[in-house]
Amino acid sequence: MNKKPPLQKIPSVDKLLKSKCLEKLIEKHSRERVVQALRAILEGLRRKIRKEIGLEISDEMIALELESIIEEENSHSLKKVINATGTIIHTNFGRAILPKESISAIQDAAAQATNLEYDLKKGKRGSRDSHLEALICRLTGAEAATVVNNNAAAVLIVLNTVAKRKEVIVSRGELVEIGGAFRVPDIIKTSGCKLVEVGTTNRTRAEDYERALSEKTGVLLKVHASNYKIIGFTENTDLKELVALGRKNAIPVIEDLGSGALIDLSVYGLPKEPVVKEQIGKGVDVVTFSGDKLLGGPQAGIIAGKRALINKINKNPLKRALRVDKITIAALEALFRLYLNEETLQDKLPALRFMTRSLSDMEGLAKAAAKGLSKFFGNDAVIEVSNGGSEIGSGSLPGEELATKIITIDHKKMSALKLAELFRKNKPPIIGRIKNDKFLLDVRCIEKSEELVPGCVEK
Ligand SMILES: *Cc1c(COP(=O)(O)O)cnc(C)c1O
Repeated sequence: MNKKPPLQKIPSVDKLLKSKCLEKLIEKHSRERVVQALRAILEGLRRKIRKEIGLEISDEMIALELESIIEEENSHSLKKVINATGTIIHTNFGRAILPKESISAIQDAAAQATNLEYDLKKGKRGSRDSHLEALICRLTGAEAATVVNNNAAAVLIVLNTVAKRKEVIVSRGELVEIGGAFRVPDIIKTSGCKLVEVGTTNRTRAEDYERALSEKTGVLLKVHASNYKIIGFTENTDLKELVALGRKNAIPVIEDLGSGALIDLSVYGLPKEPVVKEQIGKGVDVVTFSGDKLLGGPQAGIIAGKRALINKINKNPLKRALRVDKITIAALEALFRLYLNEETLQDKLPALRFMTRSLSDMEGLAKAAAKGLSKFFGNDAVIEVSNGGSEIGSGSLPGEELATKIITIDHKKMSALKLAELFRKNKPPIIGRIKNDKFLLDVRCIEKSEELVPGCVEK
């Protein structure tokens, strides 16, 4: 005996289109889209009905599913998420959150014509770099500067310009992989250069570079080992020594700083990262760094250094391929202007504000969020606020954790994985992390406590 409901129970598209509960949806989304979504729903029902006993089918239920399908199709793929991972500059979540000043400059540049490449004094074609170069030079002490798509592009164009078909000497301790396919040996090869490794993983001295010099040498390259740290018996060649060696042999010295801080972060009680101005002061020919890491701005690669070298880079055809658009230039200009006033920087630059957030501020927010979460889960979960560590992220200040406040959710029926899924399905998705089989929410980058409670903010 077959108790499964017959396929005839499924209404036809024509019949459904006349149904009252679909009227509004047709009006809102057009008949064509509704028909398309209906076909998918009915097909799904046919598959389900073959398996399930007593499956109820009603016009109302179909209308509800129809609405959620169309809503899903209409929603943007790139959308807001709540970053409760504790990693401030997270590549998966778009790295730095831009300051308001950059956002408003982006809006202005996007909505109207601008003098992007127009010299208003001379009334003729100008250079897009002109909006940023003087600012970068002022903030870094460099003679000249230019900007490309990201730091990977910056390293690529610098090496290709100065050392094409020549050798690039790098310490074995600096042949790093940053993630997302940026590996120093690969970028050197792609730039048309040949890698010459010197020293050992943990110790490299100036003599090691010197011994590797030949008539084929094009560049002495230093790479900031952003995302890892060698500790113990180590020796790193000082940039000054390398610059002296480069001068003596007329070989340019380039440093890929990775994050590149424009200010001394130790002033804020943070671990020290190399400051761009200090490196330039040591006489390095060119440095490169990211726009969206510690700098706190949009994706970009900043190249700063000697005038003659920057001029050559600007003439490389790759520059045209790697150039930034008006949106990036607008955001960067506003960002650099914020750096001109260090007194207000901490307040205005979200990345720095998150890095320096006080424990008491985070504790207040964590407690408020914990209260909301206790209400949401009722007796099913134990919610606790405790001390923890957040990371800066994107390879900045590796191994350094910042003291933070963590909310732990211990659910009686749901595993940490299930909890993570529940929070991810929220609108907007809330992304935490799992540690020791517990689901955690780090409040460091959270602005309002409600943002951590599922179903509290609808957007
Ligand atoms: C992050 C990083 C890069 C890549 O920079 P992007 O701006 O992400 O392209 C290159 N080198 C170092 C040392 C880095 O830390």
